[in-house]
Amino acid sequence: MAYVKWFSEISKDDVPIAGGKGANLGEMTQIGLPIPPGFVVTANAYWDFINRTGLKDRIFEILRSTNVDDTDELDRNTKKIRDLIKGTKMPMDMEMEIVEAYRKLCNEYNGGQPVNVAVRSSATAEDMPDASFAGQQDTYLDVVGEEDVVKNVQSCWASLFTPRATFYREKQGYSHEKVKLAAVVQKMVNSEVSGVMFTADPTGDTSKIVIEAAYGLGEAVVGGMVTPDTYILSKNPLKIVSKHISKQTWKVDRAKSGKGTEHVDIPEELQDKQKLPDDKIIELAKLGLTSENHYNHPQDMEWAYEGGKLYIVQSRAITTLKLKKKVEEEEKIEVKGEVLTKGLAASPGIATGPVKVVHDLSELDKVQKGDILVTVMTNPDMVPAMKRAAAIVTDEGGMTCHAAIVGRELGIPSVVGTGNITQLVKDGDIITVDATRGFVYKGEVQIEKKEEIDLSTLPKTKTHIYLNLGIPDMAEKYAKLPVDGVGLMREEFIVATYIKKHPLKAIEEGKEQEWIDKLADGVARVCKAFYPRPVVLRFSDFKTNEYRDLEGGNKYEPQEDNPMLGWRGCSRYYSPKYEPAFRLELRAIKKVRDSGLDNLWVMLPFVRKQEEVKNILKIMEEEGLKRSDNFKVWIMAEVPSVALLSEEFAELVDGFSIGSNDLTQLVLGVDRDSEMLGRMGLFDERDPAVKKAISMIIHGARSKGRTVSLCGQAPSNYPEFAKFLVEQGITSISVNPDAFAKVKKVVAETEKELGISPDQ
Ligand code: PEP
Ligand code: MG
Repeated sequence: MAYVKWFSEISKDDVPIAGGKGANLGEMTQIGLPIPPGFVVTANAYWDFINRTGLKDRIFEILRSTNVDDTDELDRNTKKIRDLIKGTKMPMDMEMEIVEAYRKLCNEYNGGQPVNVAVRSSATAEDMPDASFAGQQDTYLDVVGEEDVVKNVQSCWASLFTPRATFYREKQGYSHEKVKLAAVVQKMVNSEVSGVMFTADPTGDTSKIVIEAAYGLGEAVVGGMVTPDTYILSKNPLKIVSKHISKQTWKVDRAKSGKGTEHVDIPEELQDKQKLPDDKIIELAKLGLTSENHYNHPQDMEWAYEGGKLYIVQSRAITTLKLKKKVEEEEKIEVKGEVLTKGLAASPGIATGPVKVVHDLSELDKVQKGDILVTVMTNPDMVPAMKRAAAIVTDEGGMTCHAAIVGRELGIPSVVGTGNITQLVKDGDIITVDATRGFVYKGEVQIEKKEEIDLSTLPKTKTHIYLNLGIPDMAEKYAKLPVDGVGLMREEFIVATYIKKHPLKAIEEGKEQEWIDKLADGVARVCKAFYPRPVVLRFSDFKTNEYRDLEGGNKYEPQEDNPMLGWRGCSRYYSPKYEPAFRLELRAIKKVRDSGLDNLWVMLPFVRKQEEVKNILKIMEEEGLKRSDNFKVWIMAEVPSVALLSEEFAELVDGFSIGSNDLTQLVLGVDRDSEMLGRMGLFDERDPAVKKAISMIIHGARSKGRTVSLCGQAPSNYPEFAKFLVEQGITSISVNPDAFAKVKKVVAETEKELGISPDQ
């Protein structure tokens, strides 16, 4: 009788001999997944053990005489049974088979040295509604040596007779004699990195794969104790579409003593690093697809990484894919507003409400129906309050953390892992949570139904129409529009939502490369999506008050009474204080261009004087970024000085982009953020004085053979404004995605009126 079967000899049909867990490990091994090696001590071994040693009759005799409703008696008698199982010598041939299998594991995988294994119960009673009561939960980790392996196999068997399992079987009318138990003996993986993988986005999108990775053993990720990295891949073609890297300061490791686990600090220099390299992410995703294809259903998998090798430790069907429809509906909605922060879209939906920040459990009562629950990380005790919340936003956690799972289960919009929400809001603040896309907005924001446009009927135009794009996440989607490129990508959006750290702080910490890499990743994503169409990245244009909101910002930013007219845009780049940070921006651009994405151009914001442009061009050259035919440098025309001297400025650069927002503010002397002046109708880009300034810029640029674009809000808000621009001779217009179709039509009509052919 074979008491031992290797995983490679077992398939999913072998539940009666290998138990549920063993059969699953066997099946995964058979389809070629890298399962940590091991074998199963079959259910027959258990059965023969109690038969051949004569234990069977004694066990069932004890059970027959036990009143399970008498707790003391149940405890006493089940302990007696467990002691009998653990204390009885295993028949020699059975023991030898297990020992030999263990030796083989040591020889093949540990050079003959004793190998650490996990010994796990694997119940065969699949028809039991809750198999855990059959003892399936029993796991012994870090078992080393022949004797201990045998001993722990017997402990697994004994676990069939805990008071709880015995009581349950009795009450449910399951025969004790029918339940059998196999034991899995498997080499332990000492995970350097581990995590989970969903072969479909658990919020419903089956075209994506989501991988979470953290240092150390998987427990910390599954328990939501650390925020893992999140990598999202598209399946077709199989490639990484986004990476969200998290800071991890500690991990769970196997204890040095060999027993149990311990918390270990992670060295500073590794804390913010990407946990799993790109090539391994792809390799892992392929394993995910192997499993998904085999089981013909999206899988929820656990994996580990050790010594350059990936292991799969678990694969089961995802059961929560029903949310897909909701996501699709929400995607038809456009949210407009000021982004406070970004996290992972863990459970879709949109909600607006007052914030309640919960620091500890005593504060749960303050969460009323309709509030937005904001906390560092949720835990099971918070569930009653979570149920009352209109949305949940957390600092920490990944797609599998507690808040994400419960949010999905309860259908509550949840954004997790923002890193900073508890710092940004206080009780009573009104925020809007767009958990379909992972954004948190200030206040109650405009939510619009997106107009469906038939793109195939759009006319061609000579004037290029570009998009204004802030957040790289939407790049692939908008790249599908028949636009000519991205005419304004505001760098500060990427910094605020992805990096969140002041560049000077990154420098002070010696983490400049990381800052550069993160910026480069965001920019590259957009360039890739739109390639070969140009993407015009505008260097940072935070004001000092906005810079202060970044991590570490307070230390580096002066207090200004009027930041809008202060140390912003170009004036920073050549200031000795900021120049080192500007060089990080430049290095990120160089990195992206050097990777082959030569469709990346740049633009300088808030230019006041020609000298500024000259200074900056020099710094750019020092960083290896010289203007050329395929690397264009534009300046924003948004300070009236540029309008007045447009021909002189034209000598310095390849093109202009008119910032009608700032230009209106400065020509009319109207604070663009003043609600009162806005209500009075004083802020209006269509004012004749503003139009005159715009006209001066266009003519100055064209007279010197330069291109001229406009990327302010004017044509997005008033599509008919595009008519004026085309009449003046503008060469391109950059608009918000939702305004694209309307503006394109106005431009086509105007060109027709003027006798300009689209192919000219
Ligand atoms: C503008 O001023 O018109 C512009 C596009 O820049 P921002 O709105 O970012 O200041
Ligand atoms: Mg501006």
